[in-house]
Amino acid sequence: MPINKASLLVLESFVRQREGGKKLRLIFLGPPGSGKGTQASRLSQRFGIPQISTGAILREAVANKTELGIKAKEYMDKGELVSDDVIIGIICDRIVQTDCENGFILDGFPRTIVQAESFDRMVKEKNIPIDVVLSLDVSEEMVVRRLCGRLVCPECNVNYHLEFNPPKKKGVCSKCGGKLYHRPDDEEDVVRRRLKIYKETTEPLIGYYQQKGLLRVINGTETIESIFKQLVIVLEGM
Ligand code: ADP
Ligand code: ADP
Ligand code: ZN
Repeated sequence: MPINKASLLVLESFVRQREGGKKLRLIFLGPPGSGKGTQASRLSQRFGIPQISTGAILREAVANKTELGIKAKEYMDKGELVSDDVIIGIICDRIVQTDCENGFILDGFPRTIVQAESFDRMVKEKNIPIDVVLSLDVSEEMVVRRLCGRLVCPECNVNYHLEFNPPKKKGVCSKCGGKLYHRPDDEEDVVRRRLKIYKETTEPLIGYYQQKGLLRVINGTETIESIFKQLVIVLEGM
């Protein structure tokens, strides 16, 4: 019998079940530039669960000039947050898709207490509990340096850095060959504004998840590889 994509997917999910049926649902917290996307993308490959990046979903909508994209663009350009209702709607639709059955990695959501509370209700209703919230801890100066040199692939959403994590070939995605670009909101003035909003609006989520007993703080200043190894150990132990 020929093996098609659908039967491969069934086989893969069977293998996961045989490995203990573990589902893995996690949230990344941390300021812009702390490494959430970089680690989420690697963990997604390692554990075979999707990375759900609200920023990437919005950037795709902007590029396609959809109704959502046109609405979101003016906030994103200024470094401000898109409205809670819009973001909650996106997540609500996304986490029920079939590729999320074995788990998911949230990268960039939630970003406000309203989003977190609404998400709590959502996962309770759907009976899909969150396993862990990973908070990447880095200094403000370090994230500014990281964001100012960040390069993004618009095709596969992999992130690079001019100095810390350069692509094999200048300006070209090593994974898919896409043409890398520097995000307009990664210019220093917008970065400072995003960091201010992070401190005021998103940082309180650290306390929120600590109280729920879900928080694990990770030192985000080490190398990409060393942080990844630590994360794999934490997640394999769950
Ligand atoms: P976030 O998703 O939290 O905004 P990214 O994963 O996009 O952050 O990382 C921001 C930038 O810093 C990228 O250019 C990335 O290549 C780089 N980077 C990520 N993690 C590290 C690290 N541990 N050390 C050095 N540079 C890193
Ligand atoms: P970074 O991780 O570098 O801060 P993202 O790619 O996650 O950036 O997000 C880019 C922009 O998309 C944000 O500045 C904001 O305008 C919008 N955005 C992404 N996620 C959310 C969210 N959960 N709530 C509100 N706005 C969001
Ligand atoms: Zn790519």
